[in-house]
Amino acid sequence: MSSIPFIDLKSQYNALKTNIDSRIMKVLESGAYIGGPEVAELEKKLAEHTGVSHVLACASGTDALLIPMMALGIGPGDEVITTGFSFIATAETIVLAGAKPIYVDIDKRTYNIDPVAIEKAITPKTKAIVPVSLYGQVVDMDEIMAIAKKHNLYVLEDLAQSYGARYKDKKSGSFGIASGTSFYPAKPLGCYGDGGAIFTNDAKLAVAMKEVREHGSEKRYYHTRLGVNGRLDTIQCAILLAKLERYDWELEQRQRVADRYNQAFSEIKAPQFTTPYIKPDRNCAWAQYTLTVENRAEFQKKLQDKGVPTSVHYPMTMADQPWYKEHTAGATANIPNARWAADHVVSLPMFPDMTNDIQDRVIEAVITALK
Ligand SMILES: *Cc1c(COP(=O)(O)O)cnc(C)c1O
Repeated sequence: MSSIPFIDLKSQYNALKTNIDSRIMKVLESGAYIGGPEVAELEKKLAEHTGVSHVLACASGTDALLIPMMALGIGPGDEVITTGFSFIATAETIVLAGAKPIYVDIDKRTYNIDPVAIEKAITPKTKAIVPVSLYGQVVDMDEIMAIAKKHNLYVLEDLAQSYGARYKDKKSGSFGIASGTSFYPAKPLGCYGDGGAIFTNDAKLAVAMKEVREHGSEKRYYHTRLGVNGRLDTIQCAILLAKLERYDWELEQRQRVADRYNQAFSEIKAPQFTTPYIKPDRNCAWAQYTLTVENRAEFQKKLQDKGVPTSVHYPMTMADQPWYKEHTAGATANIPNARWAADHVVSLPMFPDMTNDIQDRVIEAVITALK
């Protein structure tokens, strides 16, 4: 039996081929490969889609976190509170900005940062909170914003996995001073290379971030800040414009796939077994559909033998990664839930074009493996 893809980007391309190809051709023929009209068009469309007033396309999700920190002047001497459990870019950008990441624990049910743990970690040096809306579910934003207001801290949401998700009546990316997402191909909204975007409602900060994105230049060849080369190229913007047209439908399809998994697994009784928990006042962009199991290696092997790929996001907490353990006081981080998650999470194939037949093969393999 042939193997199932973990994410099927090719069937998505086939569905959008006419639109994507013609938009790419238009850029190729225009000659404007950096800063073409598609960049401004994409920024406008993303602003409409999220309800945020200023959007800057940028070169990666990593730049989308680093640029706001640089523009806000977060740096040496500052502490930035973040989750223990995320992709490494979350902690990496705090270190690159020159600040110190302080890892706090997660809620075991959602894998998202625990607001109670945030408040306990605040010191006179704390400058900002970087919460991550992991696997597609927005963090406890009301609680986090209240803590930030009380202690006068910036909030920078990492929405690399939750673009398009809703929290109450607002979208992921519309909270806090600024937020950053990723358009890495495997993210819910992906381009065909590296890419990202920054969101803010602060007009002054938007100008500063735009300068940082372009080598810190206020105008051409006049550099008033330390910056980076953080632009998103025109072709990637053209691809994203095509993909954005059916993105809300894709989110519905991801929800359909998640609902079918939830239904199929509702009767499973196995040690340490959990299915995703989404809080009732928000929805999920389903970047990942993640279970926990007692013996992950054995579970993965059983699925692999049936041609069903799985993936682990993430096998270690950021604090326990070798460099971070040594250089960021990660070893002393008090994050038992994050460490438990790192040992037990496993994600199943999840993509909008997944057919019921393919999904049934995954479901059958999971149920058999846990019998
Ligand atoms: C992917 C990801 C990033 C980094 O995005 P890139 O586009 O790969 O630089 C940051 N944070 C989280 C949570 C991510 O999943």
